[in-house]
Amino acid sequence: MNIEKEIEKYTEVLKTSEKLPALFVGHGSPMNAIANNTFVDGFQNAANSIQTPQAILCISAHWFTPGTFLTGMQHPKTIHDFGGFPRELYQIEYPAPGNKDLAETTQQLLSPNPSIIDDSEWGLDHGSWSVLRHMYPEATIPVVQLSIDYTKPASYHFELAKQLRPLREKGVLIVGSGNIVHNLRMVDWKNVDKIDHGYEWASEAREIVNKAIISRNYQSLTDYKKLSTSLQLAIPTPDHFLPLLYVLSQENKNEPINLFNDHLVGGSLSMTSVQVGE
Ligand code: ZN
Repeated sequence: MNIEKEIEKYTEVLKTSEKLPALFVGHGSPMNAIANNTFVDGFQNAANSIQTPQAILCISAHWFTPGTFLTGMQHPKTIHDFGGFPRELYQIEYPAPGNKDLAETTQQLLSPNPSIIDDSEWGLDHGSWSVLRHMYPEATIPVVQLSIDYTKPASYHFELAKQLRPLREKGVLIVGSGNIVHNLRMVDWKNVDKIDHGYEWASEAREIVNKAIISRNYQSLTDYKKLSTSLQLAIPTPDHFLPLLYVLSQENKNEPINLFNDHLVGGSLSMTSVQVGE
């Protein structure tokens, strides 16, 4: 099978355009969905500084599954996958359409892994919409979510994601949504909104990962537990970290890499976000 021809076939509706960057966004608390803070400014600036995508493929920490899945429904529902937040947050809808063509193209690129679901089983979780509603408030750009197979190691995800690279040249914005430092058990809830408030280990973990990103030492990040005990505390479970690897995988040699929203909050969380390419 000629993969290039397959891509052409499945991207007929996606007009060829300039190459888009890929973005990792630290989404933090679901409350950021309705906040007006420096992180929201960062999301908006990122969206304003790049060309408008024709579709978005989002890899969210909150769709962590046995196996790989893609949303293929025409109208993905807004999932309020959290508990104990103000009612206002549950009333938010992000009615972006889906895009079956993008789901099928992605399925081809990652063949034979993903299954497309087109029932009501999933939709857009808050890892996607809490950030996208700030970046693209009109919700007119189609969004497809790709799940993360929790049975596979980090190195598998890094390699798998390389197969998504052609999408960037087809007007697709690849967005990974998670948090690099993300230890909910150790959050200092009294100071959860305090910016630049981080435990020593969180600060060390942030520095180690930032250095690895900037020096393009991505391979070390696929074996992050070996890097330092601070990373073991920062990444107690891989769900919020793996979306970063999907985005770093998109880098072609010598593309610029920019960090934004690079702050610790609440002691044990970081909002660090990464743009690969321009
Ligand atoms: Zn989250």
